[in-house]
Amino acid sequence: MTLHDEACTTGAARAEHVGASPSATSRPAVVLLHGPGGGTAADFDFLRPMLARTRDVLAIRVPDAAGRRVIDWNEALTDTVGDVTVVAIGGHSSEAVRAARHSASLIGRVVLIDPEPADADADENGIDASRVLMLSTGTGRRTLLDQPARILSLIEEFIDGAGADRAPEATRSTDAAEGIRNAVSGTSLDGATEIDTVIVGAGFAGLGAGIRLARRGEESFVILERASDVGGTWRDNVYPGVACDIPSHLYSFSFLPKPDWSGFFASGPEIHGYLRDAARTEGLERHLRLGSEVLEMRWSADDRRWRVRTGAGDYVCRTLIVAAGRLSDARMPDVPGLDSFPGPVMHSSAWDDSVALEGRRVGVVGTGASAAQLIPQLARTASSVVVFQRSAPYVVPRPDRQYTPDEQAGFAADPASRAAMRDDLFWGAETAFAERMRVPGYIDRLRDRALGHLEAQVTDPGLRAAARPRYEIGCKRVIISNDYYPALASPAVTLEPSALRSVSGSVATSVDGRSVELDVLVFATGFESTRPPFAARTFGADGIRLADAWSTGMRAHASTTVHGFPNMFVLDGPNASLGHNSAVVMIEAQLDYVLAALEHRASNGVDALDVSLDAQDAYTREIDAKAASSVWLTGGCESWYVDERSGRLTLLWPDFAYSFQRRLLRFDPENYSAV
Ligand SMILES: Cc1cc2nc3c(=O)[nH]c(=O)nc-3n(C[C@H](O)[C@H](O)[C@H](O)COP(=O)(O)OP(=O)(O)OC[C@H]3O[C@@H](n4cnc5c(N)ncnc54)[C@H](O)[C@@H]3O)c2cc1C
Repeated sequence: MTLHDEACTTGAARAEHVGASPSATSRPAVVLLHGPGGGTAADFDFLRPMLARTRDVLAIRVPDAAGRRVIDWNEALTDTVGDVTVVAIGGHSSEAVRAARHSASLIGRVVLIDPEPADADADENGIDASRVLMLSTGTGRRTLLDQPARILSLIEEFIDGAGADRAPEATRSTDAAEGIRNAVSGTSLDGATEIDTVIVGAGFAGLGAGIRLARRGEESFVILERASDVGGTWRDNVYPGVACDIPSHLYSFSFLPKPDWSGFFASGPEIHGYLRDAARTEGLERHLRLGSEVLEMRWSADDRRWRVRTGAGDYVCRTLIVAAGRLSDARMPDVPGLDSFPGPVMHSSAWDDSVALEGRRVGVVGTGASAAQLIPQLARTASSVVVFQRSAPYVVPRPDRQYTPDEQAGFAADPASRAAMRDDLFWGAETAFAERMRVPGYIDRLRDRALGHLEAQVTDPGLRAAARPRYEIGCKRVIISNDYYPALASPAVTLEPSALRSVSGSVATSVDGRSVELDVLVFATGFESTRPPFAARTFGADGIRLADAWSTGMRAHASTTVHGFPNMFVLDGPNASLGHNSAVVMIEAQLDYVLAALEHRASNGVDALDVSLDAQDAYTREIDAKAASSVWLTGGCESWYVDERSGRLTLLWPDFAYSFQRRLLRFDPENYSAV
């Protein structure tokens, strides 16, 4: 991104271009009016860089009363190509209205945020109402900064005309497609069960897919799950203290609300209970095939069907929805001598309750999100805990609280207000994306909050220094905890500020050469996130293995479909996770896309769809360009978001969640061919 100043010919107004050189591009141009009487500097700290990611932004300073009052728009916009939108806050609305009226050939649209009453009536001002977006940030002390991402999304939608793309809800909920209804269900083909759709995995994504199919009246699908229960992440992770970092009302399906969440953040067991209830109440039990580990998924070009081999029977299907998770296979570091450790060794995602911890010396390897939840619990039971820390995490306070019975009753009685609260939670979380884009002010406030938390909770200078991260905040997942630092500071816990290097019998030695005797070793070392094991078991057109297609990192079109793997949809896969908002909203956006693809396929009599390589490459380039300046790639850390083979960000969607929703709102048949 380049930024240069340009004096306006009025002498009193100053213009600055943010983004690519305006004359070299035909990207839409946005003019932001700033200066006295028009919003705060912080409003523009957010709007300018965020709009500049996809547009040319020209910031024009409106002179104060002492300066010349009128901007010469012809001069100010000489270099600007294309349709110009002027954005004005508060007292600057008059200037924007004047510009739109008198320079209509230059200025196509106007956005007025909290305009002066006299400017709020577009007709009165002689401007076609379709050219004006009027936004109110609400009453009282609410400002743009309370929900900046929401304002941004409305501005972007207005400029892009995205509203026109929005498919009417009815299109999304039409009856099951013809081709799907005609498919034979449950019959046997070479000993394999023939079925329309196979879903792999019964976590949030797989169950969500099942619910959406069932609600459309689909009967011919199965959900194959290797474990003996549904729940995915929340079934497997049962370590003490396991909980979600996203508010419960946002970390649940929008189409299946739960008014009686016990608190602001839900515990792991409560989320697991929610998913079990979902499977039962939505009638998924008859579609579930538990204890069915998928061993191979192979595309057969002859009959355009997938052959899915499991440890408990085989399936032939037209549509394959892979919802096998990205944090579902534990990652264990290769520690020399680990086999010689005489005591129990566990990964955080395979917790063994039968292991007694009282009075034992426990070593914890890792300081990520799971470790931060686990360590305070261990500090209460074990006789001592040694934490092997390769790099320190940033930790911010956790604003948790229990809901009262009255609040829960209110959520149940008033679905509209509950939905509005979910909306508020969503837009509140969205603001954090500006932190991940290193927008000054935003990232500084977050860093200050985290380092202030460290200072407030850790008084010992040595421990404070060891617990202080050495990379930029947000590069790794930010921990949300009130009891992590107090646990580190407690007498039972020792922080070893280096990784575990080796084990010899019961003695564990760190990279820095310190040795300690332990009874139990706990690995909180994360998951095979960049190399999902299902990819080694999936074979597409011409027998190509998905793991080979992804040999330099996962890639897909729309984060969902992969060239050469027709009729396969991957949920929660490449660039479909978030570092700042709920995974569930991303999964829901993907489900909309998948259903729209199935409808397109049916209504056009197409048997199988394959995304083009061009479209997939273009999407990948877009992801890479968006990710380039993000904190995940520039923050100076190593994280599981980045593929070590290519250095590409392959896990996270490097943008706002709302832009993912918008992006996947429409199925784009022009990028697919029938096979
Ligand atoms: C401890 C922890 C805390 C988390 N906290 C948050 C949070 O605060 N906010 C957030 O947004 N996200 C969080 N996540 C991420 C979480 O994984 C996602 O939010 C979400 O649960 C993913 O759902 P999923 O269905 O895609 O995957 P999963 O829940 O992993 O489900 C995948 C399912 O596929 C099954 N499966 C895999 N391979 C096969 C196979 N070959 N055959 C058959 N079945 C198979 C697995 O057994 C599993 O049941 C957390 C993850 C962990 C581990």
